[in-house]
Amino acid sequence: MTTQRPRGIGMTSARTRERLLNRLRKSGIEDARVLEAIRQVPRHMFVEEALASRAYEDIALPIGHGQTISQPYIVALMTQTLTAGKHLHRVLEIGTGCGYQTAVLANLVDDVCTVERVTTLFRQTRNRLFDLKYRNIKFLHGDGLKGWPEHAPYDGILATAAPEEVPRSLLEQIKTGGRMVIPIGGRALQKLVLIEKTLEGFEQREIESVHFVPLVSGKV
Ligand code: SAH
Repeated sequence: MTTQRPRGIGMTSARTRERLLNRLRKSGIEDARVLEAIRQVPRHMFVEEALASRAYEDIALPIGHGQTISQPYIVALMTQTLTAGKHLHRVLEIGTGCGYQTAVLANLVDDVCTVERVTTLFRQTRNRLFDLKYRNIKFLHGDGLKGWPEHAPYDGILATAAPEEVPRSLLEQIKTGGRMVIPIGGRALQKLVLIEKTLEGFEQREIESVHFVPLVSGKV
C-alpha cells in the first residue's frame, strides 16, 4: 500500500528554513524583524507542488502566467529597505503575484493593500492568504500603475514589477516621510530604487541591479 505524504513534509523542517535565513544573513540582511517575518512564511505553499522541494532555495521560481515568485534575498532586501527598522502602519504592494512578498509584509505592518492585474492570480492568492489566516490584507484586482488612491497615503509602497519610469500616481500616494521601493527600467537593465518623500520633495537612490517582470498597464 502506498500512502501519500502530505505536501510539504521535509521541506517545512525548521532546519531547511534556518538554512535559508543563514544564507540571507550572509548576503547582508541584518534586520532581525525582517528575518523573523520570512521565517514565518511557508514559501512551499506559494509554488506549485512540483517545485515545493526547491522553495527554500534562494532562487526565483515560476508561478504561471509568465510570472515569478521573487528570490527570497530580493524580498528580504526590499522589505528591509522599505521598513528601515520602523513599524509601518499601511503599505501598498503593486503586483501581488503568488502573495509571498505580501505575506512577509503582512507579518510586519498593520495593513497591507495589494494590487494585481491578472484575475486568476488575484483570486488564487486572495484564497491562499485567507487559508493561511492572514486577515490584515486588502486585495484589489486592478492596474497597479494607478496605485490604490482610496487607502492613500501609504507609509510605504513596494512594487514587484518594473515600470520604465517612476509612475507619478504612485509618488502622489506616498505619505510625507514615507518611502517607495521600486524596480525601474526595461527588461535588459533594471535598478532597484529607493524614493523618500520629504517636506522638500523626493530623494532617490539606487540600491542594486535587479531583474523583475515588466509592470504592464491595464488588467486582464
Ligand atoms: N510579489 C510577487 C512577485 C510577483 S511577479 C511574489 O512574491 O510572488 C509581479 C506581479 O506583478 C505579477 O503577478 C504581475 O501580473 C503583476 N503586475 C504586472 N503589472 C501590473 C500592474 N500594472 N498592476 C498590478 N499588477 C501587475
